[in-house]
Amino acid sequence: MYDFTFKPFNEMTEEDYKTVGFKSGLEIHQQLLTEKKLFCRCPAGKYSKEFDAEILRHMRPTLSEMGVYDGTALMEFKTKKNIIYHIKRETVCTYEMDDTPPFLINEEALDIAIGIGMLYNCNIVDELHIARKQYLDGSIPTGFQRTAIYGLDGWIPYKDRKIKIVQMSIEEDSCREVSDIGHERVYLTDRLGMPLIETVTEPAMRAPKEVAEVAWQCSKLVRSTQKVRRGMGAAREDVNVSVEGGTRVEIKGVPQITLIPLLTYNEAMRQWNLLRLREELKRRGIIPETFKAESCDITKILKKVSYAPLKYAADSGMKLSVVVLKGFKDLLHWQTQTDTYFSKEISDRIRVIACLTNIPNLIHSDSKSDTISSADWQKVKKFTNSSDQDTMVIVWGSEGDVKTAVNEIIIRAKEATIGIPSETRQAMSDGTNGFERILPGADRMYPDTDLPPKKITGDKLNKIKSWLPEQFWKRIEWYNKLEIPKDTIEELSISKYAEFFKKAVNDWKINPTTAAVFLIQFPKRLKKYGILDEWLNEPMFEQVLKSYANGNIPKDALLITLKTVAELGAFTEEVILTPATEKATDEAIKSARLEYDKMKIYNPESKNILLMGLVMKKLRGRVPAKIIAGKVGFEKGVR
Ligand SMILES: [Zn+2]
Repeated sequence: MYDFTFKPFNEMTEEDYKTVGFKSGLEIHQQLLTEKKLFCRCPAGKYSKEFDAEILRHMRPTLSEMGVYDGTALMEFKTKKNIIYHIKRETVCTYEMDDTPPFLINEEALDIAIGIGMLYNCNIVDELHIARKQYLDGSIPTGFQRTAIYGLDGWIPYKDRKIKIVQMSIEEDSCREVSDIGHERVYLTDRLGMPLIETVTEPAMRAPKEVAEVAWQCSKLVRSTQKVRRGMGAAREDVNVSVEGGTRVEIKGVPQITLIPLLTYNEAMRQWNLLRLREELKRRGIIPETFKAESCDITKILKKVSYAPLKYAADSGMKLSVVVLKGFKDLLHWQTQTDTYFSKEISDRIRVIACLTNIPNLIHSDSKSDTISSADWQKVKKFTNSSDQDTMVIVWGSEGDVKTAVNEIIIRAKEATIGIPSETRQAMSDGTNGFERILPGADRMYPDTDLPPKKITGDKLNKIKSWLPEQFWKRIEWYNKLEIPKDTIEELSISKYAEFFKKAVNDWKINPTTAAVFLIQFPKRLKKYGILDEWLNEPMFEQVLKSYANGNIPKDALLITLKTVAELGAFTEEVILTPATEKATDEAIKSARLEYDKMKIYNPESKNILLMGLVMKKLRGRVPAKIIAGKVGFEKGVR
């Protein structure tokens, strides 16, 4: 059943993705643009690497109400990390460090969140119940995140279908990681507690391109409110991917939508190739019940090794161990992703769980690159009684770390006989992904007893509706009917000037194309003259456009007038240029002709274009271009 082989990214067709049963959904995290954090009154969005204090914490798993340990919690405990928080007085109070109970929820944040939920066509809950979601990686010092589901069962249009929005939550952002080396992980706390919404789509996307396109739709929707944060890290996507017979795997925190297609392709390929690996193991008679691995200390055997990483390890008193995977010959070189092999799955695990963060952190006998000499491999082979059918994996480090690593190698190799482990993975810049952690169990949410439930009243919803923009796809529909230039449609539909455009067209009867170009293209053109967006405002636009509608400004003078107004900082009557008299117009044309006659012209057909240009330069804004065109006999190209 797994006889399909993945082609290079650019050659994969929709049909190919259908063959492997590609399925993907999104969990989008978006920061809201508020002044303060969600459950305390510290400022939001003040980022700085400086700090006034450090706090050290250790995470410990506790038994759940069901009497079991959560997989992630256990994994984090195995890593024995020192978690260090950098704290700046200005951006953190005792709440974030769990020394003070939470304040009531930030209403500004809740309003924005609910507004976005309405745009997604969600049902908004009547009562908000705040829960705690367990986080034991240290990214939240309290070990849990406060979160509340507020919207359910929405949708967003995509092509000719609707993508279902399963649920929306409002929650606190986590810390920013500074470094994670060996047994020490350092976090900055400035981002901690900032309001965030999480939007979960159903896994309805059937090809990598679709995942990115739906992500763009969602991004446009939130941006249309003008009430979300922008820039690096303000929106982060978790993308879940599975293939037929595979496992739902989450790629965490993808910082850019443009990375999604390659990342999801590589994850689908990884799952497919791991399923093929399972088939191959089965063919060799290796199933969970027959899987065999042995390990032993080989510090003494390799004490004279010359391969640099091992020589360094041996010289500095570290332990060297080998794991023999019975019957695994060549399988560590089994391709999983682009230029990535099964050995990477194992290396990732011991990097994260055994904290062996110096790469390479293992070598193996299937390797095609030079590591230890073949004489050394022979020594290890003889010492461990391995056969030609086996693969040997060597790790090194402190005694404790090597013990953890040996265990993890055996666990991960055995998992290959079962299928694809449930885990979260991190996005790499080359489009592949690497192991991040074991997927948390489903029951890591529990009620927060610090905060009472909060009623969401009809009054509140009405207040939100009063500022809520129209859904951008409805605007696009209208723009298409108006036939405004294609390159203005998308941008205008989520622009802060979209409502202004509506007024200009409906109330002041401005030509839609003129208004769209004026609002979308002019600010960009003015930027080239050094005029910044923030110098422009709606009252300026209104007066310029109204003067145009009254016939006081010719169309081709709109840009220059707006420029003058922006430079002055306000609209005054003086910015309207006095129209040129017929006599002045004729004189300008005459002098342009004189200038023109002195030029060498190679293409006689361009004569009129050139002449028109010369006259326009003299008269721009004072006579409509149409009249000049008539006078110089230039018909084409003037709207
Ligand atoms: Zn605070």
